[in-house]
Amino acid sequence: MKRALAPVKEELAIWRGSGRVLPFWWRDDDATEPTPALDRLLGLAADLGAPLHLAVVPEPAGPDLANRLAAASRTVVISHGWRHRNHAPAAEKKAEFGAHRSPDVMHGEIGRGWQRLQRLFGKQALPVFAPPWNRIAPAVVAALPALGLAAISTYLPRREKHAAPGLLQVNTHVDPIDWQKRRLLDPAAIAAVTVARLSARRKRSVANEEPFGLLTHHLVHDDDIWSLTAAFVEIILESGAARFVSPLAELGPSYRQD
Ligand SMILES: [Zn+2]
Repeated sequence: MKRALAPVKEELAIWRGSGRVLPFWWRDDDATEPTPALDRLLGLAADLGAPLHLAVVPEPAGPDLANRLAAASRTVVISHGWRHRNHAPAAEKKAEFGAHRSPDVMHGEIGRGWQRLQRLFGKQALPVFAPPWNRIAPAVVAALPALGLAAISTYLPRREKHAAPGLLQVNTHVDPIDWQKRRLLDPAAIAAVTVARLSARRKRSVANEEPFGLLTHHLVHDDDIWSLTAAFVEIILESGAARFVSPLAELGPSYRQD
């Protein structure tokens, strides 16, 4: 798998040669309980020595997950909605927090979810909201700071540093899964997308401040996806041109995570 990702390695070698540093983070979604797939994810992150941001669905999460993660010292929890239920009509793309329900109901769920994560995970919970399916209505985004959240995370390079006043946008940029077929995308295509996004930063057509995010989903990984995930993180780690950061690194040292 590493051979397929060689272009990423070559791009990062150029970064290293010019003294550039990529801020990087790894987000994995959909945790609700300890599972063999979660054990494999946590084991991989520990073996690699890589910090991991686990997007946890608050309503179904409980003490079992909190106990399991307490042993994973470099794993940080972020909020992944409330129940991960789809409320969009069948003709629309799935969304838990699209413009399909009353804002009051949605704000209530998000606020309860964040409070629940803080109760369960204590300091291991970081005030970042990753809406299920990476979709959220603008009116809901604007309400997140008042609910205690400091950042929102979806997919694709951000257009603005702040999604709303007081709310950082810190997205993910590479998703290795073909969601139609629920299997690994062509690794060469994953490498091409990654290189395109990295070289845009290197050539300054895109700013390099937003932490560059790898997005994985441990519950649906087959061996190919596990293998790509491991190879991708290894290349980042070995590049000498990347630094793992908190998604809240742009807010300053109080959110540092080294
Ligand atoms: Zn999800």
